[in-house]
Amino acid sequence: MTAAVTERPGRAPAFCYRALGKRALGESDAVLHCDQVPLSRLAERFGTPLYVYSASTIRERLRAFDQAFDPAPHTVCYSVKANSNLSILRLLTREGCGFDVVSGGELERVLRVDRRAAGKVVFSGVGKTSVEIGMALQAGILLFNVESQSELQVLGECAARLKKTARMALRVNPDVPADTHPYISTGLHQHKFGIPIEQARALYRQAAKHKSLKVSGVSVHIGSQIADVTPFSATMERVADLVRALRIDGHTVDYVDAGGGLGIPYEGDGQSDFAACARKYARALLGPLRGLRVHLLLEPGRSIVGPAGTLLTRVLYRKTNGHKRFLVVDAAMNDLIRPSLYKAHHEIVPVRAHAASAKETVDVVGPICETGDFFARDRELPLAEEGDLLAILDAGAYGMVLASNYNTRPRPAEILVDGDSTKLIRRRETLTDLMGPEAPRSRRA
Ligand SMILES: *Cc1c(COP(=O)(O)O)cnc(C)c1O
Repeated sequence: MTAAVTERPGRAPAFCYRALGKRALGESDAVLHCDQVPLSRLAERFGTPLYVYSASTIRERLRAFDQAFDPAPHTVCYSVKANSNLSILRLLTREGCGFDVVSGGELERVLRVDRRAAGKVVFSGVGKTSVEIGMALQAGILLFNVESQSELQVLGECAARLKKTARMALRVNPDVPADTHPYISTGLHQHKFGIPIEQARALYRQAAKHKSLKVSGVSVHIGSQIADVTPFSATMERVADLVRALRIDGHTVDYVDAGGGLGIPYEGDGQSDFAACARKYARALLGPLRGLRVHLLLEPGRSIVGPAGTLLTRVLYRKTNGHKRFLVVDAAMNDLIRPSLYKAHHEIVPVRAHAASAKETVDVVGPICETGDFFARDRELPLAEEGDLLAILDAGAYGMVLASNYNTRPRPAEILVDGDSTKLIRRRETLTDLMGPEAPRSRRA
């Protein structure tokens, strides 16, 4: 009886079709829920477009990831840039999570959530300013991942000035190709990231001479949305060789920071068994490090929060241009840019499932004045009427964090669902929020 509605790819366990209220799951009244909460109710209460996240999914995925690395000493440092909402960071600190930050702003988010989390923070990025470095030194973060000789210099100077010791690792570039979108592949020598691995020893020697720097580890990150674990083990082989060489050179190498990058399946039914996937990833990393006795740092972002979020949107208009059918929805590329930026695929499903509904091939587009403003092209979807709600799945990572105000569109609200409770974790922006900084009165400086 329910086959017709459950065949649609939701994202179990968080996003499933259920009957509303006490009625049996009929063929026409199945509504997509986030945990126990019907998404239709959230849309009515908070409006659309709307980001909705499942707290239980985030916790489950973090725990599965963490458990996969149980055989080795490790700390999971969630990559804040994937989704930096304070409530989500708070949820993660309660789970004992550490953090990978790439700006002073992200560090400030972590500190506001829990000052004590600083001891589990690693700071990555090619362009840290001395102000940001100073903030991180004052906070007492765990590790700086240094990406150039000049940055090493600045870090040494800042630490000396503040009378602190900066624990550092070099982010090395292993020159390993990762099969992902060129914009999010980072581990090849032509990319701006990291220090060529063959130059690392000389730079470590230089770091060791600096009184305010403490050589503590080796760091690497080869890209994002990597589906195959082979490049991760190839990278770790190279890192392990470097660790051995550095120890011969007399350095202390306590930490190996393996970065993030584990991909998620965006197409079809999603991941049936994330725990198994995490274990496979863990084996790929831990194999080459066996016997090295290092503390492993991990920086997952997407794999923790990606499948835990959806972007809810309403169909504004149906239109036909020649043979082409369009659904114009109220979300746009400013709310979720991944399809426009990376040609990324996101499953789109109706919030209300009509069992017998016919299908059609449509483009799902937003209201922004750009041809690149689309969520799907030539996609077969169940027939949707004007006013219907759609859920764009797997939007928990690199969704809201990349949202902008292009076309003077206020950014969406965000909701965190935990079981049957819902919390507004970011209110919808208003036009006053947008225009405040440029109000005429504030211009007379
Ligand atoms: C973006 C990034 C991550 C997180 O990558 P995911 O693909 O989201 O897991 C981790 N570490 C660094 C240095 C990054 O730049």
